[in-house]
Amino acid sequence: MSKNDEGFINSKWIVSNRGKKNIVDPRRPYAWLVEKERTASGKIEDTAIIFLTNSECPFHCLMCDLWKNTTDKPVPVGAIPDQIEWALAQMTEVKHLKLYNSGSFFDERAIPEDDYKRIAVLLENFDTVIVESHPKLINEKSLRFRDMLKPELEIAIGLEIAHPEILKMLNKQMTLEDFSHATTFLTKNKILTRAFILLRPPFLSESEGVYWAKKSIDFAFDNGVECCTIIPVRAGNGAMELLMGKGDFNLPSINSLETVLEYGIGLNAGRVFADVWDLGLFSNCKKCIDQRINRITAMNLSQNITNQIRCTCIFSKPEKGF
Ligand code: SF4
Ligand SMILES: [Zn+2]
Repeated sequence: MSKNDEGFINSKWIVSNRGKKNIVDPRRPYAWLVEKERTASGKIEDTAIIFLTNSECPFHCLMCDLWKNTTDKPVPVGAIPDQIEWALAQMTEVKHLKLYNSGSFFDERAIPEDDYKRIAVLLENFDTVIVESHPKLINEKSLRFRDMLKPELEIAIGLEIAHPEILKMLNKQMTLEDFSHATTFLTKNKILTRAFILLRPPFLSESEGVYWAKKSIDFAFDNGVECCTIIPVRAGNGAMELLMGKGDFNLPSINSLETVLEYGIGLNAGRVFADVWDLGLFSNCKKCIDQRINRITAMNLSQNITNQIRCTCIFSKPEKGF
């Protein structure tokens, strides 16, 4: 593990290395999609994701590029329900919905509490609604929103990594205790939680990245989380490219993602998914990439460990284990 000896990683440095934001419309989500997901009850069902256009998250995490589709100022009261209403009118009926707002649902600057009622009415036909939040913004407000909702509420929280020093370097401005505090509070109040876990954030070698992703899954489940999603870390926000140039960051390999997914599923402690977005980035082998993506997708849905892909590429990059 290399060290951030210069201590240069802070919000100012991260923000100063950004490119331009995309042009977004506060009355429209910047994207939406429907995908299959295995539910907590074990069924494979369509789940919609609405990527809400919202004001920029006040935290400036080192690896985050979600600011690209955000506004500089808070969106007006009514904008978020309008976006949800518009997106729901575009899609076929599904039972599960993720509302991702490039920040924290419970951040007053992001989604005003005055909008909760209308949002709850729009969501009354769903079985499950999943929102995301920084652990420090989870409190009684989350319970007030839950109480207005007909569907079951699940909250996704970025644990990122259970390595306290690396977590600090990510500028997430939270500790492992903050995460535990939030999940304990939600579990006590019968709200399901899922954790986002990073595979190979900066300052870790490939084998350290795998080791700490596994440890992070352990930590999440030990803290009452029901579902973990492993996210292979990408560049793309300016700061990460600079770290890559310095040798402080490298993309993880798709093989490592499979290894961590196998580990998580094998624990049998809850659902474990791998993020499948743009997985081609994490492989140099054209021969097996499609098979690997299919394998990961199948494991996500079945929660069973399937046969490993045999390909000559695994011999070209030997990895040291822990
Ligand atoms: S808390 Fe989440 S949305 Fe906010 S900067 Fe960090 S990773 Fe991005
Ligand atoms: Zn290969």
